[in-house]
Amino acid sequence: MALMNCPECGGQVSDKAHACPHCGYPIQELVKKGPELPEVCLYEYKGTTYDVTDIVRAILAGDRGEAAGTLWELLGLKREEVIMVLSAIENQFGIRP
Ligand SMILES: [Zn+2]
Repeated sequence: MALMNCPECGGQVSDKAHACPHCGYPIQELVKKGPELPEVCLYEYKGTTYDVTDIVRAILAGDRGEAAGTLWELLGLKREEVIMVLSAIENQFGIRP
């Protein structure tokens, strides 16, 4: 069970809760729909900001392999860095693989 912040009132609520105990916001609908993503997803890596929208969408579509490949080309990463940065991006945008 993980705690998340209610988008309506900001209170802490379990991601398993049907609705927010503070304001009644329908948490389950949000969990099913996935995180609200910005139009353009930006990720900062070593002082440079990259547009990782395509990567985020690939992860959401369940294609982690393609996301890793795009990330690798975009950031010029070493292979062992790709998974680390991929996880960091998932955390930043609230994606649960
Ligand atoms: Zn709430």
